[in-house]
Amino acid sequence: MTQSEHLFKRAKQFIPGGVNSPVRAYQSVGGTPPFIAKAEGATLIDEDGNHYLDYVNSWGPILLGHNHPEIIGAVTQAVQKGLSFGAATRAEAEMAELMCSLVPSLEMVRMVNSGTEAVMSAIRAARGYTGRDKIIKFEGCYHGHSDGLLVKAGSGLMTQGVPSSAGVPQGCTLDTLTASYNDLHSVRQLLERYPNQVAAVIVEPVAANMGVVEPAEGFLSGLRNLCDRYGTVLIFDEVITGFRLGIDGAQGYYGVQPDLTTFGKVIGAGMPVGAYGGKREIMQMVSPCGPVYQAGTLSGNPVAMAAGLCQLTLLHDHPEIYDAINRLGKLLRQGLRDIITRAKAPCCVTGVGSLCCLFFTPGPVTDYSCAQRCDTGEFGRYFHHMLSGGYYLAPSQFEAMFLSFSHTEQMIRDTLSHAAEFFLRGDQ
Ligand SMILES: *Cc1c(COP(=O)(O)O)cnc(C)c1O
Repeated sequence: MTQSEHLFKRAKQFIPGGVNSPVRAYQSVGGTPPFIAKAEGATLIDEDGNHYLDYVNSWGPILLGHNHPEIIGAVTQAVQKGLSFGAATRAEAEMAELMCSLVPSLEMVRMVNSGTEAVMSAIRAARGYTGRDKIIKFEGCYHGHSDGLLVKAGSGLMTQGVPSSAGVPQGCTLDTLTASYNDLHSVRQLLERYPNQVAAVIVEPVAANMGVVEPAEGFLSGLRNLCDRYGTVLIFDEVITGFRLGIDGAQGYYGVQPDLTTFGKVIGAGMPVGAYGGKREIMQMVSPCGPVYQAGTLSGNPVAMAAGLCQLTLLHDHPEIYDAINRLGKLLRQGLRDIITRAKAPCCVTGVGSLCCLFFTPGPVTDYSCAQRCDTGEFGRYFHHMLSGGYYLAPSQFEAMFLSFSHTEQMIRDTLSHAAEFFLRGDQ
């Protein structure tokens, strides 16, 4: 029995599924998840000493590579001053100032501890600001696990939200309306059907939790126009794209300004952090300035702030980092496209910047229903082929591949030649 097998068995006795977040249990691909002991640069090392080239990067936060010396240095310095004070600190003020200076739509920002919390709080602020209850989300977009957002679409657009998790009362999702990604008409219909009732439209500006689905030309600007027309707050959930697609996120990349933005992942550099912010007028609704209550014992934690502040400062000082990771993303996407074309595989490749996804469906994938057509069994076989070669992909068809600044062109080329073996195996 390997160390990972042994640890998985032990963990399953005391943690549901042996994991603290479900996708880690490998249920959709089968097998035992490697238990990770440590990481360095682009490499993960498991408890059995196996090395893997990491394409998960903690699901996005690790943008510069694992164990970046400057980030580790900043965290070490912070740790030596104390882990938490539950009081205002210099690092929080500097973090907020830096974020607002880097992202033009941010006038004020509030730190929280996870992406889930950021989204939940942003929606509360939007509801408090508009005095309206309903929100519109898109099928296939993930916004964390708060009750009101665990909704899959009903049979039709006009149905009210049905919880997609047990334990969520019907009442919690009654105000969650669901539209189709890349379909402005579906949004307009809901806004017309519920006049003066929709507080916010929330969207992943690049959908990266149903595989990677890019916004169609005009989709994000169309949402901006609809929200303006109906007095609805536009929220971009940039928990993945924020500071990954560029220093000003997807909103900079696509040139569309939301009213509120949620962050997580990259802003914590691997520490548990989230944030929400945007227009001053809306953010001043939040306590203690206004009537929208929101708080957190560990929010703005000094160690987490040190990590995030260091990563964002490095990104600001070295814009060439984005050029490099985006170039690697392009190389990876193009290489995978060449392979599936050569193999005539019924697959397609999507992605933008340092995000990439290989869908096991011919595509094009423009929304959730397209993504649902994937052959997840074939993905599972591909996943295990890659893992056994030392390539650590997300163990689900519906997740992105994340690149870091520690990845090199040679690593991408090695990955591509191992992937090609899977697709061209019949040709030998
Ligand atoms: C990861 C993610 C979240 C939730 O963040 P957690 O830190 O896991 O709570 C929310 N929105 C998007 C777009 C995400 O990718």
